[in-house]
Amino acid sequence: MTTAIGVVITEHIVAGRLEDNRLVGKLLRHPEDPNVSDALTAMPAGELVEILATHIGTLAGDDTRPLDAVGVAVPGIVRHGVVEDSPNLHQIKGMRLAEELGHALIARGIAAPVYVVNDADSIAAGVAATREQLDRLTRVWTIGNGIGYGRWPYVEGVWEGGHITVTLDPKERFCGCGGVGHLEGIMGYRAMRMRFLDLEPEEVFAQARQGDTRCREFVDLWHRALAAGTASFIHLAGPGRFYFTGHNVGFLELPLLRSHLETMVKMSPLQSFSLEILPPDDETALLGAGVSALRASTE
Ligand SMILES: [Zn+2]
Repeated sequence: MTTAIGVVITEHIVAGRLEDNRLVGKLLRHPEDPNVSDALTAMPAGELVEILATHIGTLAGDDTRPLDAVGVAVPGIVRHGVVEDSPNLHQIKGMRLAEELGHALIARGIAAPVYVVNDADSIAAGVAATREQLDRLTRVWTIGNGIGYGRWPYVEGVWEGGHITVTLDPKERFCGCGGVGHLEGIMGYRAMRMRFLDLEPEEVFAQARQGDTRCREFVDLWHRALAAGTASFIHLAGPGRFYFTGHNVGFLELPLLRSHLETMVKMSPLQSFSLEILPPDDETALLGAGVSALRASTE
């Protein structure tokens, strides 16, 4: 039996124990009250690591068998255990998270390899594990404040799919990274608020449904942008399964996305793609973080 701990850091922390690639027991959450938001943004990085180590220690419990791996999913660019960038958790930017957490765990008597993974990649891994398709290419778009792109199996690279260029219009400059023409500059929540100064994104989608022309045109652009990003990845890595999740996945209309995608992908061997919406949850990413860590620890 393999045992691992999976942890997800978003605007909160969730940790759980995996036995043979399945979640067992209760999840631990910080803050415990789900109504408390923004608990992590101002937290010093050292304190964050201590909370992670404490949760992992609790989940490891009194089990005398060593843990096989610890997997931590974080938003941002992650390479070799280092968080190279994390736009929503500035304090961990540049942090050698795998190493520092490893030290905090050793101080608690836990010697397990720590593996840090991008949160969207961990969702892709979690989906692949849940559907018993770990041998297949699985891709995930996460639609939230930013736009994330994740894939399983892990391959070396940056994979900032949310910043793929989907338009040459120089006026498209709402991306949080500052880049012109980016997917997130159209689809991201923050970007939509900057575009529609008079309406919240929820109101834009609601008014589009009621037939408002300006909102309807934007909702169409939003779907075309996602289709363009998806089409680009189909042309690079092939058709296959794409999943859509995240806090704002409720804005997505799959038939509209599909109709735009069909105008963009015309080579017949590439047309066998499938699209599916997944309700956002923490468990999938948590499972994926653990599964990714186990896979990495045996490579
Ligand atoms: Zn960007």
